[in-house]
Amino acid sequence: MIERTLSIIKPDAVKMKVSGNIINIFETNGFQILAMKKIHMSYKQAQDFYKEHQARPFYHDLCTFMSSGPVIVQILEKENAIKANRDIMGATNPADADTGTIRKMYGESIDNNAVHGSDSATSAVREIGFFFSELEIVQ
Ligand code: ADP
Ligand code: MG
Repeated sequence: MIERTLSIIKPDAVKMKVSGNIINIFETNGFQILAMKKIHMSYKQAQDFYKEHQARPFYHDLCTFMSSGPVIVQILEKENAIKANRDIMGATNPADADTGTIRKMYGESIDNNAVHGSDSATSAVREIGFFFSELEIVQ
Protein backbone atom coordinates (compact mmCIF):
# COMPACT_ATOMS: atom_id res chain seq x y z
CA MET A 1 0.00 0.00 0.00
CA ILE A 2 1.27 3.48 -0.87
CA GLU A 3 1.69 5.34 2.42
CA ARG A 4 2.84 8.71 3.68
CA THR A 5 5.11 9.21 6.65
CA LEU A 6 6.51 12.22 8.45
CA SER A 7 10.28 12.66 8.63
CA ILE A 8 12.20 15.20 10.70
CA ILE A 9 15.89 15.86 10.14
CA LYS A 10 16.75 16.82 13.73
CA PRO A 11 18.80 19.85 14.90
CA ASP A 12 22.03 17.83 15.27
CA ALA A 13 21.99 16.68 11.64
CA VAL A 14 21.00 20.12 10.31
CA LYS A 15 23.86 21.67 12.33
CA MET A 16 26.33 19.08 10.96
CA LYS A 17 25.25 20.00 7.40
CA VAL A 18 24.29 16.45 6.51
CA SER A 19 20.65 17.20 5.67
CA GLY A 20 21.45 17.01 1.94
CA ASN A 21 23.00 13.57 2.42
CA ILE A 22 19.92 12.40 4.34
CA ILE A 23 17.51 13.75 1.70
CA ASN A 24 19.63 11.94 -0.91
CA ILE A 25 19.16 8.69 1.01
CA PHE A 26 15.37 9.17 0.93
CA GLU A 27 15.42 9.87 -2.81
CA THR A 28 17.71 6.98 -3.71
CA ASN A 29 15.46 4.68 -1.66
CA GLY A 30 12.48 5.63 -3.83
CA PHE A 31 10.62 8.02 -1.56
CA GLN A 32 8.69 10.87 -3.15
CA ILE A 33 9.04 14.11 -1.22
CA LEU A 34 5.50 15.50 -1.12
CA ALA A 35 6.34 18.46 1.12
CA MET A 36 9.42 19.91 2.81
CA LYS A 37 10.24 22.92 5.00
CA LYS A 38 12.82 24.19 7.47
CA ILE A 39 11.40 25.37 10.79
CA HIS A 40 12.64 26.17 14.28
CA MET A 41 10.21 24.78 16.85
CA SER A 42 9.55 26.48 20.14
CA TYR A 43 9.86 24.38 23.30
CA LYS A 44 6.05 24.37 23.54
CA GLN A 45 5.64 23.12 19.98
CA ALA A 46 8.14 20.33 20.65
CA GLN A 47 6.21 19.40 23.81
CA ASP A 48 3.01 19.23 21.81
CA PHE A 49 4.60 17.19 19.02
CA TYR A 50 6.06 14.66 21.48
CA LYS A 51 3.14 14.66 23.95
CA GLU A 52 2.90 10.84 23.82
CA HIS A 53 6.24 10.85 25.70
CA GLN A 54 5.24 13.40 28.36
CA ALA A 55 5.55 10.92 31.25
CA ARG A 56 9.02 9.73 30.20
CA PRO A 57 12.13 10.86 32.11
CA PHE A 58 13.76 12.08 28.87
CA TYR A 59 10.79 14.27 27.82
CA HIS A 60 12.26 17.61 28.96
CA ASP A 61 15.68 16.93 27.37
CA LEU A 62 14.00 15.73 24.18
CA CYS A 63 11.89 18.90 23.88
CA THR A 64 14.91 21.10 24.69
CA PHE A 65 16.94 19.35 22.00
CA MET A 66 14.19 19.46 19.36
CA SER A 67 13.77 23.21 19.92
CA SER A 68 17.53 23.92 20.04
CA GLY A 69 17.85 24.72 16.34
CA PRO A 70 16.22 24.40 12.93
CA VAL A 71 14.88 21.09 11.66
CA ILE A 72 13.73 19.96 8.22
CA VAL A 73 10.30 18.35 8.14
CA GLN A 74 9.22 16.30 5.14
CA ILE A 75 6.29 14.20 4.02
CA LEU A 76 7.67 11.08 2.33
CA GLU A 77 5.60 8.75 0.19
CA LYS A 78 6.20 5.25 -1.16
CA GLU A 79 5.03 1.65 -0.80
CA ASN A 80 4.95 0.84 2.96
CA ALA A 81 6.63 4.19 3.64
CA ILE A 82 6.27 4.05 7.42
CA LYS A 83 8.24 0.82 7.88
CA ALA A 84 10.57 1.57 4.96
CA ASN A 85 11.58 4.85 6.62
CA ARG A 86 12.00 3.21 10.04
CA ASP A 87 14.23 0.59 8.37
CA ILE A 88 16.57 3.11 6.75
CA MET A 89 16.58 5.27 9.93
CA GLY A 90 17.85 2.41 12.11
CA ALA A 91 17.36 1.79 15.83
CA THR A 92 16.56 4.67 18.22
CA ASN A 93 19.98 4.30 19.85
CA PRO A 94 22.63 4.76 17.12
CA ALA A 95 24.84 2.30 19.02
CA ASP A 96 22.26 -0.41 18.21
CA ALA A 97 21.57 0.72 14.63
CA ASP A 98 22.55 -1.45 11.66
CA THR A 99 25.40 -0.47 9.36
CA GLY A 100 24.23 1.76 6.53
CA THR A 101 21.29 3.23 8.43
CA ILE A 102 20.94 7.00 8.86
CA ARG A 103 21.27 6.83 12.64
CA LYS A 104 24.40 4.67 12.38
CA MET A 105 25.98 7.14 9.95
CA TYR A 106 24.87 10.44 11.50
CA GLY A 107 23.53 9.79 15.01
CA GLU A 108 25.82 10.43 17.96
CA SER A 109 23.71 9.19 20.86
CA ILE A 110 20.14 8.24 21.81
CA ASP A 111 19.45 11.95 22.39
CA ASN A 112 21.14 13.19 19.22
CA ASN A 113 19.98 10.58 16.74
CA ALA A 114 19.65 12.64 13.54
CA VAL A 115 16.13 11.78 12.39
CA HIS A 116 12.53 11.20 13.43
CA GLY A 117 10.07 8.99 11.55
CA SER A 118 6.41 8.22 12.24
CA ASP A 119 5.97 4.82 13.90
CA SER A 120 2.43 3.91 12.76
CA ALA A 121 -0.30 4.92 10.31
CA THR A 122 -2.14 6.72 13.11
CA SER A 123 0.89 8.72 14.17
CA ALA A 124 1.77 9.50 10.52
CA VAL A 125 -1.63 11.15 10.00
CA ARG A 126 -1.32 13.14 13.23
CA GLU A 127 2.28 14.19 12.59
CA ILE A 128 1.67 15.22 8.97
CA GLY A 129 -1.31 17.32 10.08
CA PHE A 130 0.80 18.81 12.88
CA PHE A 131 3.23 20.42 10.41
CA PHE A 132 1.48 20.69 7.04
CA SER A 133 -1.78 21.99 5.66
CA GLU A 134 -3.40 20.36 2.61
CA LEU A 135 -2.24 23.32 0.45
CA GLU A 136 1.43 22.59 1.21
CA ILE A 137 1.31 19.00 -0.04
CA VAL A 138 2.32 18.33 -3.67
CA GLN A 139 0.04 15.70 -5.20
P1 ADP B 1 12.00 6.82 17.88
O1 ADP B 1 12.49 8.21 17.57
O2 ADP B 1 12.97 5.77 17.39
O3 ADP B 1 10.59 6.57 17.40
P2 ADP B 1 10.90 7.06 20.57
O4 ADP B 1 9.63 7.47 19.91
O5 ADP B 1 10.84 5.94 21.55
O6 ADP B 1 12.01 6.66 19.47
O7 ADP B 1 11.53 8.30 21.32
C1 ADP B 1 11.51 9.59 20.74
C2 ADP B 1 12.88 10.20 20.89
O8 ADP B 1 13.15 10.39 22.27
C3 ADP B 1 14.03 9.33 20.35
O9 ADP B 1 14.28 9.51 18.98
C4 ADP B 1 15.19 9.80 21.19
O10 ADP B 1 15.78 10.97 20.64
C5 ADP B 1 14.52 10.13 22.52
N1 ADP B 1 14.65 9.00 23.43
C6 ADP B 1 13.99 7.83 23.39
N2 ADP B 1 14.35 7.01 24.40
C7 ADP B 1 15.28 7.69 25.10
C8 ADP B 1 16.04 7.40 26.26
N3 ADP B 1 15.92 6.23 26.90
N4 ADP B 1 16.90 8.36 26.70
C9 ADP B 1 17.03 9.52 26.06
N5 ADP B 1 16.33 9.87 24.94
C10 ADP B 1 15.47 8.96 24.48
MG1 MG C 1 8.84 7.50 18.01
